[in-house]
Amino acid sequence: MPEPLMARLSSRQADFDSLLDALLAWDSVSDDAVASTVQHVLADVKARGDAALLEYTRQFDALDVSAMAELEFSQEQLLAALTRIDAAQREALENAAARIRHYHEKQVQQSWSYTEADGTVLGQQVRGMDRVGLYVPGGKATYPSSVLMNAVPAKVAGVAELIMVSPTPRGFVNDMVLAAAAIAGVDRVFAVGGAQAIAALAYGTESIPRVDKIVGPGNIYVATAKRQVFGSVGLDMIAGPSEILVVCDGKTDPDWIAMDLFSQAEHDEDAQSLLISPDADFLDAVAVSIERLLPDMERVDIIRQSLAGRGAMIHVADMDEAIALVNRIAPEHLELSVDQPEQYLADIRHAGAIFMGRHTPEALGDYCAGPNHVLPTSGTARFSSPLGVYDFQKRSSIINCSPAGAATLAATASVLARGESLTAHARSAEYRMAGDSDE
Ligand code: NAD
Repeated sequence: MPEPLMARLSSRQADFDSLLDALLAWDSVSDDAVASTVQHVLADVKARGDAALLEYTRQFDALDVSAMAELEFSQEQLLAALTRIDAAQREALENAAARIRHYHEKQVQQSWSYTEADGTVLGQQVRGMDRVGLYVPGGKATYPSSVLMNAVPAKVAGVAELIMVSPTPRGFVNDMVLAAAAIAGVDRVFAVGGAQAIAALAYGTESIPRVDKIVGPGNIYVATAKRQVFGSVGLDMIAGPSEILVVCDGKTDPDWIAMDLFSQAEHDEDAQSLLISPDADFLDAVAVSIERLLPDMERVDIIRQSLAGRGAMIHVADMDEAIALVNRIAPEHLELSVDQPEQYLADIRHAGAIFMGRHTPEALGDYCAGPNHVLPTSGTARFSSPLGVYDFQKRSSIINCSPAGAATLAATASVLARGESLTAHARSAEYRMAGDSDE
């Protein structure tokens, strides 16, 4: 048997903890040269607006246009793209969008309030954001599924205006991306990308309005720009490379598991595919499947590099140990390819998305099951959640005191305010203890 492509670890080996830590380590994007280029681009777009945007589009996307109007797609152009794509592609996009919308409608948070005995009303008012910017990568590959996964929840949340930016290098336009924007109800689409697009969304230019929040993945220039505009605008997450962790009891077809590992690895060389099983013979069988199936894969080189560089198979004593490892790794995607996966669910504390059973590969969730495919990476599932409607809604607290309620609250507030030496606070509260001034 040839040397296995994926590293093999055992939870019983003495150096397992340090090997696992090294395997999971990922330095988030940082590069001094990129950071200084981005800083310059951001400041320039902030100062010169559209003129700078046009220059950078010429420089980085080899697209020579003289007016921003040439970089905006009209709604008619989006609808035209929808009619140009194959009927099967259109049906798939529409079906995926409908399922994503249905799922996300369950996430909508409602305003609420309650009335206390003295008539004071307390509550929370929930509103969609006014304007959101969506970055859709367009450099090396295009991602219509990302358009749906970001835009549909924003629209379900009631975002009034959704502005999409996506570069079109050398003028190459992807009809599937425009069609997805049409289906998702994106309001405006501009063919700009990179740090200059993030600057336009964060600061506004003559043509691109400033937004309240920017979402969507991108390359190192985009990610660095998002970091640098933090504070001026709301942001989603700065995603690391994608990951999958498959836990298998040894009873799934090894070819299925090999392909599930490939499906993550084909994203890029830094993507991570991990397999955990208490069955050592099964790990051998998956290694054999990998050798047999890999040569036929279109992205064979990327998969090979990803599996060899960041992949691993981990042999554990039993399922309890497997679940403990899941919680330690906090994977972006977790596949429980086991009998009755429900029995383990209560013990899983950290995972972006959990794919239950042998018939639920991650690929179905990536495109069309309904839940979002924008998930916390690099162990951040310990403290964050999938992108959702709640990321596009915000809350205002509501306090409406009756005269009697104000008098009662003021007694407490006045004591606390004086304890903090904030006399104006105390007196402001105390005025209300006496009831209405005109009574
Ligand atoms: P992109 O749109 O992110 O970047 C293209 C832009 O980068 C160009 O428009 C240009 O402005 C800028 N750029 C390129 N070279 C530059 C340079 N030398 N100086 C200044 N600016 C420069 O598209 P991409 O490059 O294809 O990258 C897409 C990224 O998005 C990949 O890293 C991919 O892994 C990631 N992605 C992640 C997810 C996820 O869910 N995590 C999904 C889809 C894509």
